[in-house]
Amino acid sequence: MPTQRYAVFGHPVAHSLSPRLHALFAEQTGIDLEYLAIDASPEDFEGAVRSFLETDGCGANVTLPHKARAFGLADVHTAMAGRLGVANVLTRLPDGRIEADSNDGAGMLADLRARCRIEPRGRDVLLLGAGGAARAAAFALLDAGTQSLVVANRTLDRAHALAAALAQPARLRVLAWGDLAAAAPFGLIVNATSAGLRHDSPPALPRTLAQPHTMTYDLSYGPAAGWFLDWARAAGCARACDGLGMLVETAAGSFERWHGVRPDADAALGALRRTLP
Ligand code: NAP
Repeated sequence: MPTQRYAVFGHPVAHSLSPRLHALFAEQTGIDLEYLAIDASPEDFEGAVRSFLETDGCGANVTLPHKARAFGLADVHTAMAGRLGVANVLTRLPDGRIEADSNDGAGMLADLRARCRIEPRGRDVLLLGAGGAARAAAFALLDAGTQSLVVANRTLDRAHALAAALAQPARLRVLAWGDLAAAAPFGLIVNATSAGLRHDSPPALPRTLAQPHTMTYDLSYGPAAGWFLDWARAAGCARACDGLGMLVETAAGSFERWHGVRPDADAALGALRRTLP
């Protein structure tokens, strides 16, 4: 059987840990595969993905800034991708059609529960951010049975747009960033902003958002997660977890979709943490 080919498409993409993760999973499971990182500009994205999947590519992951376009180019969508309107997993089906799925939310919940030992059900949750990752996180948190969800975003209009898409007015509230100081403490605070990725100064968060039982989770990892996790520790939060485990869970989910085998995410995460700064 010829080597199966997979890829992650992004712009930029050189920093992506996906090739390393899929190589680790391939080693664990003895599956022969090649996994590339392909840099495609927004203009080239659709052509590059189609030519990859129409030749010998079996599947692809998609990262920033292409997740909405990935949804748009697919022929069929899983229920979750359909709700979110974005996709991070593309699969070439046996009949040649392209399937789009979004497993970011599932990856976040799996990591929250398995490694961070945080159960969102019944909690009052503050979600920081209203971009693509926040959208996946918000659907997942509401589906998991949070008691309430407050969305705060630097650009208020985007928070309102997210709330409209979530369509759960009984459990959902939008808060302007400037009004966070007046908010009551939360049981869980999830950071889904990209603050800290570039060299901008991180936003100021009032310590009054936290109590000693407050759990915190940052979708970012590495240096980008530093400011939020530092804030959480300084505010005395009970737990402060980064999103590297979420990345590993979403990669494991893609691997399982493509190969029918669930790889050992814990082992891969351990290997990754040992090599990252
Ligand atoms: P995005 O769509 O570009 O959204 C970025 C969000 O961050 C927006 O809400 C934006 O607010 C906010 N933001 C950016 N800089 C800020 C600042 N200085 N202060 C306050 N808010 C700021 O990005 P995304 O795809 O949602 O990704 C968000 C983060 O999640 C990234 O760090 C990404 O690496 C991470 N992520 C992790 C995983 C994982 O597997 N662990 C998966 C997906 C994403 P405005 O609307 O005001 O611009």
